[in-house]
Amino acid sequence: MLGKVLFWVLLGLLIFIFWQKKRVAQVKREESERKVPESKKMVQCPVCGVHFVEVDGVWVNGTMYCSHECAEKAKGSTE
Ligand SMILES: [Zn+2]
Repeated sequence: MLGKVLFWVLLGLLIFIFWQKKRVAQVKREESERKVPESKKMVQCPVCGVHFVEVDGVWVNGTMYCSHECAEKAKGSTE
């Protein structure tokens, strides 16, 4: 009788642990997916002074600009 109860308790525990592990893995995956947009860094454009998100910027000669227009302007002023 006691052995049977113990068996069901252990089985329930195993299912619970398995379910919990699956849930933790899912939460971790959701967190890592959420981290990508959170890591957006604000950068100031050296030409027009506008603040923009780093991923939207345009890299030209090691400097980040808010748009191709500003990059072109910067190029024009140095040449
Ligand atoms: Zn700009």
